[in-house]
Amino acid sequence: MNYFSHSPLDRRFELRTDAAGQDLLWLHPQARFILIHDNLHLLQQQENLQLVTLTRQQAEALEPLAKVFLGLQGEVPYFVLGFEQQAEEIAAYLQEPYLFMDLKEVALQLPPEDSAILAHARAMVHWNLRHLYCPDCGSLTQSMEAGHMRQCTNPACGRSHFPRTDTAVIMLISEGDACLLGRQAGWPKGRYATLAGFLEPGETLEQAVAREAMEETGVQLASITYHSSQPWPFPASIMVGFMATVSNRELKVNYAELEDARWFTRDEIAAGLQTGTFLLPPQVSISYQLIRSWYNAGPGYTLEQLGQEIH
Ligand SMILES: [Zn+2]
Repeated sequence: MNYFSHSPLDRRFELRTDAAGQDLLWLHPQARFILIHDNLHLLQQQENLQLVTLTRQQAEALEPLAKVFLGLQGEVPYFVLGFEQQAEEIAAYLQEPYLFMDLKEVALQLPPEDSAILAHARAMVHWNLRHLYCPDCGSLTQSMEAGHMRQCTNPACGRSHFPRTDTAVIMLISEGDACLLGRQAGWPKGRYATLAGFLEPGETLEQAVAREAMEETGVQLASITYHSSQPWPFPASIMVGFMATVSNRELKVNYAELEDARWFTRDEIAAGLQTGTFLLPPQVSISYQLIRSWYNAGPGYTLEQLGQEIH
């Protein structure tokens, strides 16, 4: 499974519209309140990096811009409180030491279940805070359904707005014992990753995969197979992963989109990893998982075994 897809929460959608039930959940003695400020998570560095949740007293003293019921872990309700530009207000209610950190940077240091809860929380806060005003008429919206819907307060409009997710496709393209990887300027030296791009309106996922591959590297895909997907709340995407093949290795790289793209054989990847001249994408990404899945299906060492050999 990909990172951010291990959430232990049962979303219990039927509780979102149960006002009395929501009050009871909020008052539950073990209720956990996650805090997000300016898209950063409240964490704590003990022996390991840890998720910090507020007490209800702290949660009630603060005035979040967004409040969302995320679900239940067993009997324990989880809420997230979202803030923007309220650092001083928040600091007054917290005990040092605490940290505000970007989930994308620290996800691997947290238990996978916590990372998944925080990813869910981040996406919900981001959507709420970007929809404080109605996209149709510009009036204020109000939070409904425990943070899962926002309704326009203008009686002449009254439209309901629901959380949105932007779809991106990402694909490992291979031919024989080589795969096609690209890199963008600004990435660490030697890092390559799978091709990716956003789905456009009026397209199927497969069409988006074929179009992005053609636009970025000029290749015509021979086959496209679904692999897996990953919630990617940076800020609001789902990455839909595919395995694709081509019938020849001719490339016509679009250097306006990519700094470089090229074929890497399995041997080149192994040698590059050992000398440090080739870097894989971060392990938190589905790009890494697609490369791993392809690489490990071949003969010889797996990526994990190579990693042990290097260290
Ligand atoms: Zn409106």
